[in-house]
Amino acid sequence: MDYLPLFCQLKNRACLLVGAGDVAERKARLLLDAGAKLTVNALTFTSQFEIWADEGKVRLLKGEFSPLLVDEKWLVIAATDSDLVNQEVSEAAEQRRVFCNVVDAPESASVIMPSIIDRSPLMIAVSSGGNAPVLARLLRERLESILPQHLGKLAQVAGGLRARVKAQFSEMSDRRRWWEKLFNHHRLAQSLANNDDAQSGQYLEELFSEPVDKHGEVILVGAGPGDAGLLTLKGLQQMQLADVVVYDRLVSDGVLNLVRRDAERIFVGKRAGHHCVPQERINEILLEQAQMGKRIVRLKGGDPFIFGRGGEELEALKAAGIAFSVVPGITAASGCSAYSGIPLTHRDHAQSVRLITGHAKQDGALDWACLAQGQQTLVFYMGLTQAGEIQRRLLENGLAAQTPVALVENGTSQQQRVVTGNLTDLENLAKQVQSPSLIIVGSVVSLRHKLNWFASETPQ
Ligand code: SAH
Repeated sequence: MDYLPLFCQLKNRACLLVGAGDVAERKARLLLDAGAKLTVNALTFTSQFEIWADEGKVRLLKGEFSPLLVDEKWLVIAATDSDLVNQEVSEAAEQRRVFCNVVDAPESASVIMPSIIDRSPLMIAVSSGGNAPVLARLLRERLESILPQHLGKLAQVAGGLRARVKAQFSEMSDRRRWWEKLFNHHRLAQSLANNDDAQSGQYLEELFSEPVDKHGEVILVGAGPGDAGLLTLKGLQQMQLADVVVYDRLVSDGVLNLVRRDAERIFVGKRAGHHCVPQERINEILLEQAQMGKRIVRLKGGDPFIFGRGGEELEALKAAGIAFSVVPGITAASGCSAYSGIPLTHRDHAQSVRLITGHAKQDGALDWACLAQGQQTLVFYMGLTQAGEIQRRLLENGLAAQTPVALVENGTSQQQRVVTGNLTDLENLAKQVQSPSLIIVGSVVSLRHKLNWFASETPQ
């Protein structure tokens, strides 16, 4: 993060604007809207500044800039057309530890001004950290067009209800649910947009008299294989509504960053040097949290129903009568296949695909004769430590020694690495990659040299 976004209270606080041309005028307007006590220092002033001065809104100081003007100010803006003067203002502010914005020169400023979408009291500020102001402006325009005007009114109404909501609901989670109901109430939104106060008031009373839903529930969400862009919209929505998120090691940081900021996060994976949280304990955590009436997102790498033990967790919830639902995710096989340019099926190569665990619970669980047949693609999850065994069994059962294989490490992430070779190399190739890695076996692997589009690292 290059800049920390803040919203400053400038009401009646002394601020200094140096420069009084058109650009300065725009800045002055913002500061005046925010209620600042504004002094403007310049050699000449546009007529708008004279009008503001006559109305008593600004104090004009005609003359050269003096560093002393910065004293006792909360915020300074340098908006003259001279880089030299702007620099001088910035240095004077820096010495006095007063925040300073320099128009068109973010590098010499301690504060940059965002593009804003104003639905007061709701404010959205967008910034590219000075890198791409046009991009920030385009984004602002997009947001302007999708955010209805009545949002400001809704925020204002909400402000007026805070004390009442707090008095009525002692639990934080109840309060949050009530607010969510309020903000998702489309008819209320419509009546606010129509300025129909009587109708809005009636909807609000209805909302206060309805009981809040206190039943806990668990939503099992597939987080996909790594790239946060592969999360589903529904998964994202659930992550934004969660009270608690229970996640494990395979969930990428990019996805975790999308969890609602205030949600409690419970890590149940394996940390270096520590053991995994046992499955029974994970089931207990989900139950305990749900019985407190919370909305829990159980976030799992890939798809929760593919080698994710999602089914086992839901069985425990079902037995305890806890409501649940499932949001699928992109499983590692799909993600790694797409991002390594290896289609899992292809009319010339494979008519079926098998997803196989390298960690079968008991010996004899896999039908190797069947797996060794051609015209299919084999995808082994959790297969790294078993790579030698997989190679041996497939060869023993007649799969051709020159069958191509690929190992995809950290598929779909920026750190994705892919190694390829023949079935006879599998055990050795497995030593070149780390977990999480997927093993793909089948002649589709040969398509990679044509279809690879994602810049993977190839290990030396
Ligand atoms: N539910 C998950 C799989 C969990 S089992 C899914 O649908 O993808 C864990 C195994 O998945 C790992 O051992 C590895 O083989 C595979 N895996 C998960 N994410 C991966 C990734 N980004 N790249 C490669 N393999 C991955």
